[in-house]
Amino acid sequence: MINASLRSHLTLWFAGLSLLTLLSVGFYVGHIATEQIKQASGNALLSTARSAAALLGEQLRERQLEVYLLSRAPHLERGDLDNPSILVSMQLRTQARAEYAWMGVTDSEGHVHQAVNGLLVGQSVQQRPWFQAGLRGEYTGDPHEAVLLAKLLPGQSNGEPLRFIDFAAPIHNADGQVIGVLGAHAHWSWVTRIVESAAQSHRGATPDIEALIIDHDGKVLYPEALVGQQLAANAPQSPGWTAGDGYLTSMVAVPTPSSTALSWSIAVRQPLDSALQPARLLLYKLLLLGVVAAVVFGLVAYYLALHLSRPIEQLARAAKQVQDKQPGAQFQLQHPVREIAQLGQSIDAMTQSLLGKERELQEANASLEATVAQRTAALTQANAELLSLATHDALTGVYNRRRFDEKLTEYSLLFRRTGRPFALLLIDADHFKRINDNYGHAVGDDVLRQLAQLIQMSIRSTDFVARYGGEEFAVLLPEIAKPDTPEVVAEKIRVAVAGAHFPQVGHVTVSIGVGLADPADNSHAMLIKRADQQLYQAKAAGRNQVA
Ligand code: GH3
Ligand code: MG
Ligand code: MG
Repeated sequence: MINASLRSHLTLWFAGLSLLTLLSVGFYVGHIATEQIKQASGNALLSTARSAAALLGEQLRERQLEVYLLSRAPHLERGDLDNPSILVSMQLRTQARAEYAWMGVTDSEGHVHQAVNGLLVGQSVQQRPWFQAGLRGEYTGDPHEAVLLAKLLPGQSNGEPLRFIDFAAPIHNADGQVIGVLGAHAHWSWVTRIVESAAQSHRGATPDIEALIIDHDGKVLYPEALVGQQLAANAPQSPGWTAGDGYLTSMVAVPTPSSTALSWSIAVRQPLDSALQPARLLLYKLLLLGVVAAVVFGLVAYYLALHLSRPIEQLARAAKQVQDKQPGAQFQLQHPVREIAQLGQSIDAMTQSLLGKERELQEANASLEATVAQRTAALTQANAELLSLATHDALTGVYNRRRFDEKLTEYSLLFRRTGRPFALLLIDADHFKRINDNYGHAVGDDVLRQLAQLIQMSIRSTDFVARYGGEEFAVLLPEIAKPDTPEVVAEKIRVAVAGAHFPQVGHVTVSIGVGLADPADNSHAMLIKRADQQLYQAKAAGRNQVA
């Protein structure tokens, strides 16, 4: 990513930012929706619980009131517990209200005197809580099983335990003393039907709500499957609702008769899962929208980036081409985005300027190289001239005295080592002073040049000529075998000079002394001395001859 193209950078940033934005908005909106739906569902549950509690409270109060009114019958107040009109009244009540399973009158000892359908008559109910509570005052009790009664009841022989709730009221005589208890058992199913009918009216909108009856300890009395369970610790303070333990729960106290200790509540609850289903659906839709939007934004960003990055990529490619010295680099000079156009123009101008500089540099280099070559050639020539000057005579062009000395030393050493003999000719122009005197020094110089040429032409290429001094020349002959003996070569030179025509002076002659290398010589000076003596003799003998 660090080294990715501009296009990828822009696309990823756009897509990422839009996804992030939409996800945040989605989660926020989803959260708000969840809270509102929770609120609405909680309120609906609360109203269901309230109506169920109100309905149940009213029914309980009515049953309690009936039992109370029966207990205040005039016969009973007179102590006539066995009066048949009491039974008639009780039978009328139980026929009118199907929920009554049993109704009867006991004395203060718990003996049943009269009862509807004669059930339990003559038996003792002294140990029953409703009897004991009934002695003290009005009583409405929690549901309980009554196996004995269940067996006696018609049409209830399937053995299933029947549950009842008990109502009781004390029977007072005229003096206000308790002389008995009037008790009634109502089917628990009557109670649950009341609650269910209230809940049922709200199930149209929310089918999965559940109505529970809770006793004063927070234990479930209904439905059957949950009996005895404690409702979760975070049970709501009634009235109201709370979310927890996987449920949205609303709990309302049942308004029970003030004279009894009964303290029930109705809880109506709905699984949170189903209560929040609409919010979850909304959240999913928002998330889906977020992803779709991110893709769309990413695509838009991609094409936007393409539009922006293509010219920049092109610029980068062209710049690389320039860097690699490849020809044909093209910079885009026009673009709707001003900075990109400016960039193209600037790089193009810089490139042109750089290329111009490079060309100038190359030209300067080439001219420098040419000058160096020229100077080197001149130097080489000067060196050659210098070398020639060091070894040659400036006037005649033959070797100079220095070179002659070297050569003579070399030949002498060679002779001493190998014994190969060599000869030295000393050649001196005759009466040269006169030429100078008669024709001038310049003509003398010309004569000297011509003399050098004549000598040069008369000898072999292996032989060596030098200007020995003034108008004297020296020739070294390394080969002295016949027929070109030193004397023959000397004679050849003499004849060539004597026979030559000198344009300004006519004829010139030379005298030549010949010396041969001798193993007895201590130094080459002795050879020179011998040749010089020979030259002297040739002069003395009349000049124009070889000695
Ligand atoms: P000889 O026959 O006895 O040799 O007589 P000569 O006149 O040649 O006598 P010598 O050899 O003593 O004189 C040499 C003369 O050569 C002296 C000088 O003026 C002349 N000479 C020496 N060097 C040069 C030179 O470079 N150019 C010219 N033009 N003359 C030179
Ligand atoms: Mg001389
Ligand atoms: Mg001379």
